[in-house]
Amino acid sequence: MKAEETVMKKGKMIYEGKAKKLYKTDKKDLLIQEFKDDATAFDATKRGTIIGKGVVNNKISAKLFELLESKGVETHFVKLLNDREMLIKDLKIVPIEVTIRNIVAGGMAKMMGLEEGIVLKQPVLEYHYKNDALHDPLINEYHIKALDISNDHDLRIINKRSFEVNNILKDFFAKRQLDLVDFKLEFGKHKDKMLLGDEISPDTCRLWEQGTKKKLDKDRFRRDLGDVEEAYQEVLKRVIG
Ligand code: 5GP
Repeated sequence: MKAEETVMKKGKMIYEGKAKKLYKTDKKDLLIQEFKDDATAFDATKRGTIIGKGVVNNKISAKLFELLESKGVETHFVKLLNDREMLIKDLKIVPIEVTIRNIVAGGMAKMMGLEEGIVLKQPVLEYHYKNDALHDPLINEYHIKALDISNDHDLRIINKRSFEVNNILKDFFAKRQLDLVDFKLEFGKHKDKMLLGDEISPDTCRLWEQGTKKKLDKDRFRRDLGDVEEAYQEVLKRVIG
């Protein structure tokens, strides 16, 4: 029997973040990632619950990881276990959040004093240093290399993969009448290989309905726009349907 076909025993919880928990399994290099309904924003100064979010984000992430794997982008995803849990490869996470932007919104609009909705002539890639207390500050590749957060070789792989993910997801969502405005990725090493980790969901992507420009992502929670649960369910319907 192959490793992924064996029944995974859920071991000790080794990490609890804002939206997910990680558990050990009986396989040394595999973990269980559990998605919670807890929602936070603005570096966890705003807290709440989005009912069913964990189930939706688990299913959407699984589908998108499968899509990316089918197009040659290696990820930490092994398989979906149940409504809220997926089996993943254990990663040594690079403490950088990679953001790709296709349309101006959120942090970029604020930082540069721009209107949301400007379509960028080419995608923008940003690195943010993963540190909530410092509000995930924007850094560049010189900071990363000078402080040995990562190196030239790994950064080149991270950049290439991030743009590949953008092309694949932009196309996938466009076919479902959604504009992929921006998103955040995290990468990590598994047995010397750089893999895409974390999740890809309405928590980590901005998705606007084509035509109406209705926000179908976590901005509904961040900005108290209402219909938060409905928006997450709508994205799930379009992704799975
Ligand atoms: P911004 O920098 O505009 O706040 O975020 C850009 C994109 O990355 C958005 O799609 C946002 O959801 C995602 N993103 C950036 N930082 C975080 C984070 O710390 N947590 C989550 N869940 N998403 C983030």
